[in-house]
Amino acid sequence: MRKHDQSLTSSDRQVEPDESEQDKQSDAAPAGARDRDLTAGNDPEGPRRQPTPAVPADYVGNYPGRWWHKIDGSDRIQCDLCPRACQLKEGDRGFCFVRQNIGGQMILTTYGKSTGFCIDPIEKKPLNHFLPGSSVLSFGTAGCNLGCQFCQNWEISKSREIESLSETATPEQIAEAAQRLGCRSVAFTYNDPVIFAEYAIDTARACRERGIKTVAVTAGYITREARPEFYAAIDAANVDLKAFSELFYQHLCLSRLAPVLDTLRWLKAETNVWFEITTLLIPGENDSAEEVARMCDWLVQNLGENVPLHFTAFHPDFRLKDHASTPVSTLERARRQALSAGIKYVYTGNVYDESGQNTYCPQCNTCLIERQWYKLGQYQVKDSACASCGHPIPGVFENKKGNWGPRRQPVSFRSS
Ligand code: SF4
Repeated sequence: MRKHDQSLTSSDRQVEPDESEQDKQSDAAPAGARDRDLTAGNDPEGPRRQPTPAVPADYVGNYPGRWWHKIDGSDRIQCDLCPRACQLKEGDRGFCFVRQNIGGQMILTTYGKSTGFCIDPIEKKPLNHFLPGSSVLSFGTAGCNLGCQFCQNWEISKSREIESLSETATPEQIAEAAQRLGCRSVAFTYNDPVIFAEYAIDTARACRERGIKTVAVTAGYITREARPEFYAAIDAANVDLKAFSELFYQHLCLSRLAPVLDTLRWLKAETNVWFEITTLLIPGENDSAEEVARMCDWLVQNLGENVPLHFTAFHPDFRLKDHASTPVSTLERARRQALSAGIKYVYTGNVYDESGQNTYCPQCNTCLIERQWYKLGQYQVKDSACASCGHPIPGVFENKKGNWGPRRQPVSFRSS
């Protein structure tokens, strides 16, 4: 790993950071750090959750947050939503910037607000085993609870311009729009939905009432306390496993690996959420054969062989503009390693790589789903199995592929 500015890990206080301050912060703290009880579940009583006042269904704006508690003997409150466990005095915002102590209560300041809506192919999330070929109404808000130096959506994730979030839409409006536009699902994406969990959950519930599924594109950085309610509402997820080293998470994401692995194990063991994993390979940082091998072994041992894995290419962005793009050969090598380790469905992304995009039957090697970028070709899945040999294919499939194609279509709620 390249040497990084030590200031990135030199502070752990999470109060009202400006951008330069935020970049110095890390919750990758030593033993005894703030997040120990919440992620390890060591507090026998658990954090004391505050009651959530009722608000109208069409509410947009500051919204009563869940998953927080008052700190005994202090004027601060502590957020119990993600492992950062920000401790906030009156007026402070958390690391994610969108959760704030207002009047001694935790407030989500972006409920009902979005940076914009767009219909995408589901393969773009990426999800290759979830209603292939279908369209997904996608949106995000502002802020993020990680501080990835290579973020490819940094205009959104680092946004402090909450008031300039251009769209407003209630959960019911989003569900209705998805239905009207023929989308099979709604995706919480572009920034991490964990930080706007109340809005995401309400939207997911409204969608479910209309037969629309929901997808979370997330880093999996969420506490044990919050994840059951969050994932109970969600049908599918793509979880970013950004690397397989604590050092990478500390230095390049200002966060920690262990809680992400905990979320992955829990998703597999305790839920029916369909999930796939994405790892962005960054040259010289997380792409070594040794690290990829360790990651694949962990995935097989802890999640089994059927969780699809996507290796995607890095393109220089945000604060890692000095790094080269990922060569196709690196993605191909990682894919071969993962297949050798026993993972049955391994994909490459962000580059053109024909065999790395298609889905093959692990038993008879028939090409089940042919992809050219986001356009689907032949489709050989029948009753969730290989149409040729009958081998079951894990995921959420229909007997006909969707026909959305590679289109990307912006959607505005301003006139609806
Ligand atoms: S969700 Fe936001 S406020 Fe809460 S702990 Fe995480 S970064 Fe801090």
